[in-house]
Amino acid sequence: MSKGVLLLSGGLDSSLAGLILRNMGVSLVALHLESPFGCDSMAEKMASEIGVPLVARPKGEGFLEILAKPKYGYGSAMNPCIDCRIHMFAMGKAFMEEVGASFLVTGEVLGQRPMSQKKRSIEAIDADSGMEGLVLRPLSAKLLPETLPEKKGIVDRSRLFGWAGRSRKPQMALARRLGLSVMPSPAGGCLLTDSHFKERVGDFVAIDWQEKGRKGASRLPVASLLRYGRHFRFDEGEWVIVGRDQSDNRHLEDHIRTSGVAFRPDGFDGPLVCILTTEREVSSRMGELATGALHAFGGGKVPSGPLNVTVLTGSGERPFILPPLTPDRSHLMKKDAWMPLWRQ
Ligand code: SF4
Repeated sequence: MSKGVLLLSGGLDSSLAGLILRNMGVSLVALHLESPFGCDSMAEKMASEIGVPLVARPKGEGFLEILAKPKYGYGSAMNPCIDCRIHMFAMGKAFMEEVGASFLVTGEVLGQRPMSQKKRSIEAIDADSGMEGLVLRPLSAKLLPETLPEKKGIVDRSRLFGWAGRSRKPQMALARRLGLSVMPSPAGGCLLTDSHFKERVGDFVAIDWQEKGRKGASRLPVASLLRYGRHFRFDEGEWVIVGRDQSDNRHLEDHIRTSGVAFRPDGFDGPLVCILTTEREVSSRMGELATGALHAFGGGKVPSGPLNVTVLTGSGERPFILPPLTPDRSHLMKKDAWMPLWRQ
């Protein structure tokens, strides 16, 4: 088995790692592991650029378990980088068996990231994922022990690199030298490293979703919603998301149908209002929250009286009329009633 699996994030380093091996004639299959907290990935474009077939898989529910209780803890924000790498390598190992590969290739550079790319972390990650000696890191290989593909002569160690540290200059220079026509951003962009995102994710993982009537339901679609819109939680456990702009509205519409109900203004300007719920029918409480949010965040453009909206659920779209709020609920039309749980 002389084939390798390339863990391809779509960033510069993993793309280069793949290209270095392709230039040696090594057979590779790329595996892109999708995270609900990742930015838009260039994995597809980069796989085609370096000429490697690509398979994309979600990191899965298991990743959310890890996120809640990482064995090795968090980095500077909510990023469980060491556990995340172990999880990805374990998925890579299973994929290797599936495609008949004997080793894994990554774009890691020793010392580039403070948490997961120190020598000791790398050793722990390889050992915990059962991948000792099977992970080739072409950009730092000369600073690390020989791996199986080097020992077997599948890969020529003399053509690998010994880079360490945070500078990206060597990578950029090599990319130009190898004629990479697409230059991806250096890092993949993971929102878990963003301190503004920390509270949002922390609250998400702290919720007992089984108790909230989502027993057995996947939490991944909800996790995918965390990066869009303003989020509000009420004492009753209700969770409302209000789009901030057209881009938020578009993304929320794409994701909400598996996790809740959305209200889209019809014939007037206003935000998309989403309510996370397992219900498929609009309850009177949902209607109150939607009406309140439309007025509170509609920039003064929402008409008084009944509001025409389109309701979006997992079973389709339909027109709906939201009645005006009764006086004892009219406070919901003011922003003050909508204390964001998280910094927006
Ligand atoms: S930055 Fe994000 S994707 Fe990368 S190892 Fe850390 S948690 Fe995982």
